[in-house]
Amino acid sequence: MIREFPCVSCPLGCLLRVELGEGVIRIEGHRCPRGEAYAREEVTDPKRVLATSVKVLGGDYPLVSVRTDRPIPKRLIPQAMAVIRKLAVDAPVSIGQEILSDLLGTGARLIATRSVRKASASDEGDPSLGGQGQPPVEKGDLPES
Ligand code: SF4
Repeated sequence: MIREFPCVSCPLGCLLRVELGEGVIRIEGHRCPRGEAYAREEVTDPKRVLATSVKVLGGDYPLVSVRTDRPIPKRLIPQAMAVIRKLAVDAPVSIGQEILSDLLGTGARLIATRSVRKASASDEGDPSLGGQGQPPVEKGDLPES
């Protein structure tokens, strides 16, 4: 079997061609050892950077976008998502903040890719922002002017 895919290790994007049988038989198309290593990894244990979001408590936004600081094995992504779905972080969250260290023993850190401020008092009644403040004022509750 032959698999072809571009190398993503540098902007040149060489088209790699891997012949597979009982393991890797031949790798072609690479211009450097990094490409050869990437081709071997891609057909044996591919890795990806995981980008998703984590729940924020008391923030002006209910979620914060996150990503791993290095690629993790693609086969672990469903397990990683199950862990991440259970996470919640208190606001404020700073861009670059570590949300989780050593995701599933891969050594990868989960990092915030944006900032989320604490909800202001006026946000706290807005359920879309995750707040639990005062309910909205009805028109009939307002004093006559
Ligand atoms: S094989 Fe080497 S030169 Fe080609 S895209 Fe990959 S890293 Fe770049």
